[in-house]
Amino acid sequence: MQTHKLSSQDILPLTCSRTGNCCFGKIIYLNPWELFHLAREKKNTPKEFRDLYTHFGGIQLKFDGEKGYKEQEACSQYVDNFGCSVHLGRPLACRLYPLGRQIQSEEVHYMYQGDEFPCLDPCPEVVELSQLSVGEYLQGQKTDSFEKAQDAYLELMQNLADMAFELLLDTGLAESGDKKTLALWRKMGSELPEELADRIGENWLDMLMIPEISNEDPIGFVTEHNNMLQMKAQEQFGAIQTHQELHEASVLIMGIALHLALGLGANPKELSELWIDIAKNNGAQE
Ligand code: SF4
Ligand code: SF4
Repeated sequence: MQTHKLSSQDILPLTCSRTGNCCFGKIIYLNPWELFHLAREKKNTPKEFRDLYTHFGGIQLKFDGEKGYKEQEACSQYVDNFGCSVHLGRPLACRLYPLGRQIQSEEVHYMYQGDEFPCLDPCPEVVELSQLSVGEYLQGQKTDSFEKAQDAYLELMQNLADMAFELLLDTGLAESGDKKTLALWRKMGSELPEELADRIGENWLDMLMIPEISNEDPIGFVTEHNNMLQMKAQEQFGAIQTHQELHEASVLIMGIALHLALGLGANPKELSELWIDIAKNNGAQE
């Protein structure tokens, strides 16, 4: 599929005609900041929202509403003849649509995919509405704090992976000739989200997706979350000694990093392969 990279000055038919046709049949991943904002807008606790409206412990929004556009199911937050019931708390993917966002070599790019502009098929009338620059569109959609949270969570994911590395490489586990840990990192990279969620267990899943944080600043929110996860790991793994315990801890933390990766729309298989290569270059075996 063709990818059109955009600059913030590019002018496109970005005034939405508000048919809601793009709220059907999509896959929308969620990070914990997005889950928190969706729940607040819905006047639910994050746990209530997570349990009612998401899959796999909170990383994916349910699309189980009535069938509509092209016989596809509506987003669980879509209300007929009204639209999005959580508009002010909608996730980044909905704010960006029809654009996508990618980070390459630490630079952010916006783009759209396909031979033609994605709104033209569901809403051909957009061409009669005002055109906007990409920059104006993003500003109007208030993407800023959601983009900051997304990027901060990518760093948090890397911090979790680093913890899994330390448990393998800095404890004597890799030196002992362990081969089981990387084999499981690889297996987890291809596991279904429900398998990863089961592997992580309820307690860690709650800590990952519905932490008790109410910081309004995205960086503050993710920093608090990072500290909570590090403290929980310290409490649980601070005193472990046997190679079996170290192996289990490294696998668990890597599983949490990969589950978060799914919620961030990253590719867990590619990430696990990258992390396995790094571990091997540092003396681990598979
Ligand atoms: S497809 Fe485009 S124009 Fe139509 S509702 Fe979605 S964002 Fe708006
Ligand atoms: S959260 Fe709102 S904008 Fe996003 S898909 Fe669901 S109904 Fe549409």
